[in-house]
Amino acid sequence: MLVADYDIVFQEVPNETSLALNISDCPHHCPGCHSMYLWQPVGDVLTEEWLQQKLARYPYLTCVSIQGGDRDYHEVERLARWIKQHGLKSCWYTGFARLPEDLQYGCFDFIKVGPYIEHMGGLRSPSTNQRFYRVEQDGSLYDLTELFWKNSYA
Ligand code: SF4
Repeated sequence: MLVADYDIVFQEVPNETSLALNISDCPHHCPGCHSMYLWQPVGDVLTEEWLQQKLARYPYLTCVSIQGGDRDYHEVERLARWIKQHGLKSCWYTGFARLPEDLQYGCFDFIKVGPYIEHMGGLRSPSTNQRFYRVEQDGSLYDLTELFWKNSYA
């Protein structure tokens, strides 16, 4: 799994300071995609060592958000477990319309589901098809999408 680039973000995961990792080789090719550079397999191999370096450089992070990685979601799960073991919350932004049946939700604190459908808009559009969930301790998913439609995350 390759990470094309990364950023420190404040809005992708409500109330968290997140390291957002943009994973390349996206299989979805959504019409209107604003990140077409992620369609090609480019970037660094995402390893625990790579993550450890970034966590050391940005000690104020509270969350790591893996944006993509759908071709190898078991690797996403594995890294999410590692992230939680290191005391941070984990989030996955997937372009799948539905979560894979064999996905172990417990390794995530948050999951965003859904491809980009241009006429419905992204997560910040009230007409979006995408959903952002908090994963509860019993494994159920609590829909927080409405938080993206407001300017405050009260
Ligand atoms: S899932 Fe995201 S990166 Fe992939 S094609 Fe769709 S909008 Fe672009």
